[in-house]
Amino acid sequence: MSEKLKVGILDITGCNGCVLSVAFNEDEVLDIFNLVDVLEYRFVSDPAEEKPELDIVLMEGMVASPRDLEFLKEVRARTKVLVALGTCAHTGNIPAYRKWTPKENLARLQFEKTEDIADVEVTPIDAHVQVDATIPGCPPNRREVLEVIKNLVIGKGYRLYTMPVCVECRKNNNMCLLEVNKPCLGSITTGGCFAICVNAGLECWGCRGQTADANLDAFMKMLEGKGFKRDFILERMRTFVGLKIPALETAAG
Ligand code: SF4
Ligand code: SF4
Ligand code: SF4
Repeated sequence: MSEKLKVGILDITGCNGCVLSVAFNEDEVLDIFNLVDVLEYRFVSDPAEEKPELDIVLMEGMVASPRDLEFLKEVRARTKVLVALGTCAHTGNIPAYRKWTPKENLARLQFEKTEDIADVEVTPIDAHVQVDATIPGCPPNRREVLEVIKNLVIGKGYRLYTMPVCVECRKNNNMCLLEVNKPCLGSITTGGCFAICVNAGLECWGCRGQTADANLDAFMKMLEGKGFKRDFILERMRTFVGLKIPALETAAG
């Protein structure tokens, strides 16, 4: 039997929700752990003293400190396939929104800096290193995480869901929230999450990123037609994925 792939499930600045989403696959996580050698995973073992070469790394988190950057580069150098795991790794997530926050609004949130907490711009991991695949979502869909691992193990390509959230939402027989004037981003957002927020009566805030063919202008006009202000719509669209939507980078409210 061929040697098992060596896997790391690692994190930089984040909430650990992504790395936990792997362990929460109660039914399948043991199968995965039998299929691959998980050599680095904070919920399984202490950090290895000798840093192993790895075939696959799932990396949670954004770059929010020099320490994050140093660790990310160190891991990249010994990893064949680096997977950005979750919205923080993919886009910088909500902390990256500070790019559009007036400095005076940040001032009241600031606290005395320590050596460990530097005041840096938050960035996604592909701003610094090559990323070979991305599993979006905050947190990512745990079945999708397993699917990606399994496909990498058998050397098969994998294709993440590309349809808008609306497709799964309608399959779930949800009432469309736009009909009751709620600013749902489902029609411009990549699904694969089973429309989990809308199933619970909450609007989609776009955490999985924009669909490839999203028409932002038409979407904005549609929401403006419902009475929403342009700066409110921009704020909503930027919340999770603003750094990944070039059209939103410099758009004025
Ligand atoms: S993407 Fe969401 S769940 Fe994952 S680390 Fe960031 S905040 Fe946590
Ligand atoms: S509620 Fe949102 S996700 Fe569902 S169909 Fe309407 S716009 Fe699409
Ligand atoms: S419904 Fe929207 S915000 Fe909720 S998990 Fe799916 S993509 Fe993310």
